Amino acid sequence: MRKIDLTNFQVATSETARHINRRIALNIIRRYQPMSRAELARRSGLQRSTVSAIIGQLIAEGWVTEGASPVSSRGRRPRFLHLNGERAGILAVDLRPVTTRVGLAGLDARFLMQTTWPTPGTPEAFASELARTVAAFRSAHPEIVYEGMGVSLPGRVDPAGRLVFAPNLHWEPVDLKQVLESAVGLPVVLENAASACALAELWFGRHPDDVKDLVAVTVSEGIGVGMLLNGQLIHGRNAMAGEFGHVTLDEDGPPCSCGKRGCWEQYASNSAAVRHYQRLLGGAAAAPAEPPPSPAALKFTDILRLADDGDTRAIETLEHMARYLGIGLAPLVTGLAPQVLVIIGEVTAAWDRVGPIVLDVVKRRTLPSNTTQIVPTDPAMQPRLRGAVTLVVQQYFGAPNVA
Ligand SMILES: [Zn+2]
Repeated sequence: MRKIDLTNFQVATSETARHINRRIALNIIRRYQPMSRAELARRSGLQRSTVSAIIGQLIAEGWVTEGASPVSSRGRRPRFLHLNGERAGILAVDLRPVTTRVGLAGLDARFLMQTTWPTPGTPEAFASELARTVAAFRSAHPEIVYEGMGVSLPGRVDPAGRLVFAPNLHWEPVDLKQVLESAVGLPVVLENAASACALAELWFGRHPDDVKDLVAVTVSEGIGVGMLLNGQLIHGRNAMAGEFGHVTLDEDGPPCSCGKRGCWEQYASNSAAVRHYQRLLGGAAAAPAEPPPSPAALKFTDILRLADDGDTRAIETLEHMARYLGIGLAPLVTGLAPQVLVIIGEVTAAWDRVGPIVLDVVKRRTLPSNTTQIVPTDPAMQPRLRGAVTLVVQQYFGAPNVA
């Protein structure tokens, strides 16, 4: 049982009980739709009269629609409840150092529109570009009620919405929530990309319904870790929990954007793989303290393609990356014992080659009794972008904050 947080609580009222029942009903409809009122009563254990009152309210507010059964049968045809996916328009932003992707989704997290643009160099220029995109979405879909925006980003944001750590973005600490809210005129929720991915996997991933301990590892320019333990995202002091990408493997290793040397992400990220490949191309022995390459150079996706074409240096690069992924994942598996550990990033496209090495290294470095499933995400789910949707969706479907 969670301890009551005496800095953030609400005493229970009968309204709280109604609010909780409404959330439960909304979630059951979301999960099992289409469904009849009778089935909702059965699955929830609520009285039929309570179900009627809740449904009346949800229909009046546009959350739920009720239509005739698609299958005709003799006698009275039951009417079926559906979640109204168009009730709310949610803007989702996947902010990455080079490219930003923006999507417009409904409550069901299905995307109606998406666009990408090069990420501007400053938060202010980013906010202006975002405002232009939102205006374009609004004129394309004027019928939608825009409820809010979720942003998944490569950094850490404190509870007040201040960006406090973003070494791969090269932005100084800034009140990003405020900058974006005044630019787009909507409530904005910001979250670290790996934590947003963990939420997306929990809400929309192909995992068991009862999964409560899930760790998401995003492998991109850097490495981020999002931890959902006991069903709760772990933020830590100043929202800095999950920075395993900056755990030192070798104090004399390559310099890192965080100012230290030899961080895990300097061995197992996409940018580390690009540098490794460039060293192999150079033919000389690896120089341990090479400066980061210019972004105009080779991309990680080129290495994936080269490996598919049988390029031995590209294959060696991916195998090296896989070993270091395993080396960094093993302590997560042993120390946190999640039910599922999901890998997110371009590297999952080469999982046939990378996965077996990762699993072998983890197996050799963890306890024999460990049962954590290490799986690549389903890239079609677009977890970084869908995670941004989830940040807003969970405000409607998540457990009420009664502590
Ligand atoms: Zn670092």
